[in-house]
Amino acid sequence: MGNPARVVIFDTTLRDGEQAPGYTLDVPGKVAMARALDALGVDIIEAGFPIASPADSEAVRQIALAVRRPVIAALCRTRSQDIEEAARALKPAERSRIHTFLATSDLHLRAKLRITREVCLESAVAAVRLARQFTDDVEFSAEDATRSDPDFLCLVIEAVIDAGATTVNLPDTVGYGTVDDTYRFFADLIARVPNADRAVFSAHCHDDLGLAVANSIAAVQAGVRQVECTINGIGERAGNASLEELVMAFRVRHDSLPFDTGVHSPALYETSQLLAQLTSEPVQANKAIVGRNAFAHEAGIHQDGVIKDPRTYEIMRPEDVGQPVARLVLGRHSGRHAVQNRCEALGLQLSADELAHVYNAVIALAEHRKAIGDGDLRRIVERLRATGVATHTTSVAS
Ligand code: MN
Repeated sequence: MGNPARVVIFDTTLRDGEQAPGYTLDVPGKVAMARALDALGVDIIEAGFPIASPADSEAVRQIALAVRRPVIAALCRTRSQDIEEAARALKPAERSRIHTFLATSDLHLRAKLRITREVCLESAVAAVRLARQFTDDVEFSAEDATRSDPDFLCLVIEAVIDAGATTVNLPDTVGYGTVDDTYRFFADLIARVPNADRAVFSAHCHDDLGLAVANSIAAVQAGVRQVECTINGIGERAGNASLEELVMAFRVRHDSLPFDTGVHSPALYETSQLLAQLTSEPVQANKAIVGRNAFAHEAGIHQDGVIKDPRTYEIMRPEDVGQPVARLVLGRHSGRHAVQNRCEALGLQLSADELAHVYNAVIALAEHRKAIGDGDLRRIVERLRATGVATHTTSVAS
């Protein structure tokens, strides 16, 4: 096997993600997030959809002014006003990409757009040609690609590459594909399109069935070299492929997934937290990589293992993704060893007899509490030493 292939990370947190209910950001919030994405090392930031609103357009312009290393992309339909507005917003960018999209499935053409395949093909080509007048970096997305007729899709892809598209994105817009479908879909198209070698193929997977990350990886294995993803997996409906999960899958399983990204993984956690703060939408506790439970252990057997060697229950280190430390949560499922370990960390050396008392008090208190904090533990030990009785009632102040 040769050198690992480089996969381009196209972040769409500020476009597809921001479009989701509850995730709206104002212009300063978007600029702050874009700076964090720059520090994280993403290759491309999709900053917005300028024709959608003046605020969207202004956010793209401000990001283009403030963030100079990554390529700044703006979304537009195939109408010329859309493309011109995207170009206007992107004007200050060091490096800009116009991302134009049009649906190619018969369902979308008939039910939504009410146009024929011929008009679709002509519009796609005209849009790419117009976009190329503003920048050399043009992406075309065939919306609902995975439910499009493959023969027609091949014609569209070949035509837009001839017209100057440098990236061809084939979204699973509705998150319908399975892993096998996705692999075959991309492998077949890349093999069939005669000028496929002149463009980068890209995947944009949605998580309606919880398969967005798995499908994106299958696409990469089939020859795709750009993945579109978001921080915390936010996006329309169930969201997009999660950036942090993709990056860490390539890193942790490099043995079977020999792909590199430019992402600096220790910045993942703080980027995830920043998004949660800016949008006031918390990250789900058990979210892979960045959830507060992703490196937390409560079960006694697990805590015992992690204390002896973290590798017993952790496939990556918390510091690899910027999580504070592995958290041994004291609760109803904890064991004696974890209680002792936590006390030692707090500078409390316990005799065997004291440990037995403190452990019983922790278990009793945990009947009423989700988790036992360091303050609780200190009070239990102090009370035991003062009175010989380990407090284990709800009267222990929190
Ligand atoms: Mn999408």
